[in-house]
Amino acid sequence: MQRKNMEHGPEKGEEGSTACDGCRDRECSANARKQGESAQDFAERRELESRLCRIAHKVVVLSGKGGVGKSTVAVNIAAALQMVGKRVGLLDVDIHGPSIPTMLGLEGVSLQSGPGGLLPADANGMKVMSLGFLLPDPDQAVIWRGPLKMGAIKQFLKDVDWGDLDYLVIDSPPGTGDEPLSVCQLIGKLDGAVIVTTPQKVAAVDVRKSITFCRQLGVPVLGVVENMNGFACPKCGEVSAVFSSGGGKRIVTDMNTPFLGSIPIDPAITLSGDSGRPYVSAFASSPTAEIMRRIVTPLLALDPGAAEVTAKNVKTNKEKNNMKIAIPLADGKLAMHFGHCGSFALVEADPVEKKIVKREDLEAPPHEPGLLPKWLAERGANLIIAGGMGQRAQALFCEHGIQVVIGAPAETPETLVASYLAGTLQSGENVCDH
Ligand code: ADP
Repeated sequence: MQRKNMEHGPEKGEEGSTACDGCRDRECSANARKQGESAQDFAERRELESRLCRIAHKVVVLSGKGGVGKSTVAVNIAAALQMVGKRVGLLDVDIHGPSIPTMLGLEGVSLQSGPGGLLPADANGMKVMSLGFLLPDPDQAVIWRGPLKMGAIKQFLKDVDWGDLDYLVIDSPPGTGDEPLSVCQLIGKLDGAVIVTTPQKVAAVDVRKSITFCRQLGVPVLGVVENMNGFACPKCGEVSAVFSSGGGKRIVTDMNTPFLGSIPIDPAITLSGDSGRPYVSAFASSPTAEIMRRIVTPLLALDPGAAEVTAKNVKTNKEKNNMKIAIPLADGKLAMHFGHCGSFALVEADPVEKKIVKREDLEAPPHEPGLLPKWLAERGANLIIAGGMGQRAQALFCEHGIQVVIGAPAETPETLVASYLAGTLQSGENVCDH
């Protein structure tokens, strides 16, 4: 199946016709009935291939087992691609735990049909399809019998009208069994796989299996991501070891596979997932978001001209990537009682050049529950440096895309921001719980 020559006509018109009918690529596999293929199988395959033909690059995210952060990585890869201007779709075929709707704030969305089929849901411009949208009760365990399961995946792939996309990121079922196998086979020509693992030695066996799985299917391994490698302290950002580490890295060296990066355990990643905002865009200026953006480098390399596009977008997004740091003030220094401060310093800083761009001081809004996160988000804040803050308040700020560093000393905003940018900000006890 090729994706060239696609400046053709209708998607799916009269009964039985597909976008393939207008395609001039005579060598495309969708145009030839395979030996022994029934008329119905041929029609179905043609329909599926014609849909996927309009997607320039298809990348599957795999993991040896569940719970390692495969969906988290898939969401953030998709969002990072979107951030550099790509047209992106995200397909969640994790039949056991379709978590993408929650991670993108799309719970309870009902799908619409268009003339060309089922329309994906929209998450800030990202096209999203999940088996979760089709389940009557998201809390109910899904028990799929083998053939039914494959039929559902096939139907689902065949019915979705993606339109034209630069990338489709596919969140596969975990493991290396029948389910990911069916997904990879049904999708056909995949541009590559990203394998997600955790750093412990025991996870290494799963990575080996996943790499072998890809090699057997002829799917290029774009690389391995080690997730949950160390704990990123929400106070100071310092990463400390939690599990034994280096398992993933050793395997990639052994198996001659690229290593794409290590993502630490960060409570803000969990909160982002729970509140429906991809971490990489909600916390765009954090070091972990930078790691996530680097993970998509080999995906961007699939696209000719991507380097220039990326450079251009990075440039135009520079202002967007500047941080706006809010600091509650009392007598010109950080106020320890966050919710009761009289004013805020809003400091704009360039995290790359590590310098302060400007500062403005704002009178704090009235002390009303739930008002501050919205108020600060509207003013573009994406980080708060505070003396102390309760967990619930931190979660509320996270929902609004604002990261919180607590335990900072009573210093001037300039001193605090400079040491934050230099990675030397002192943070101590949580000195205030309200
Ligand atoms: P999988 O798709 O492999 O089953 P998920 O992506 O659903 O795993 O992640 C499982 C849980 O772990 C989710 O609640 C997610 O928010 C959380 N999580 C994943 N990676 C991280 C991380 N690096 N730091 C903190 N929480 C994480």
